[in-house]
Amino acid sequence: MNFKDYIRVIPDFPQPGIVFKDITTLLKDGPAYRAAIDALKEKVAGMQIDVIAGPEARGFVIGAPLALALGVGFVPIRKSGKLPGETIEAAYDLEYGKDRLAMHKDAIQPGQKVLIADDLLATGGTIATTMNLVRQLGGEIVGAAFLIELSYLNGRDKLDGLNVVSLMNY
Ligand code: IMP
Repeated sequence: MNFKDYIRVIPDFPQPGIVFKDITTLLKDGPAYRAAIDALKEKVAGMQIDVIAGPEARGFVIGAPLALALGVGFVPIRKSGKLPGETIEAAYDLEYGKDRLAMHKDAIQPGQKVLIADDLLATGGTIATTMNLVRQLGGEIVGAAFLIELSYLNGRDKLDGLNVVSLMNY
């Protein structure tokens, strides 16, 4: 399957100069969504994974089905102020804006092997922050999985040699 056929590219969203890759056109197609999760599952097959962590909100729609497919748990990483228990937090820059991410302190046990999942790797800021949070909790990051990688933004450079897999490259 050519997954790019299911991605809608929208120029100047959410602000001028950003060429937005819209994955909702893939998600709404059942066979394409399933094929994408199956393809990611194959790409991470060699990794030892105890749990998947994914940042709000599109990290959930990739990370949770991938966790189900692999039979491992899923840990949500949320915007500041959303999680009810005790949290750790970190601030970060986006391709377009700034934000804070939070995780429950007991979401990951020291030594657990963690795969990070999100829809898209842009500048790498979101994933670098996610890695920082997971490591603060003692998790061992074994890799990161994305539907899409925007290679022209060099996000991988921020991820210190992390094993990155993706289905589509722009
Ligand atoms: P980064 O932190 O710059 O790597 O940006 C990645 C985050 O921003 C991901 O969580 C994406 O959901 C979101 N994002 C950035 N650019 C796009 C895009 O073109 N399409 C969809 N999401 C994007």
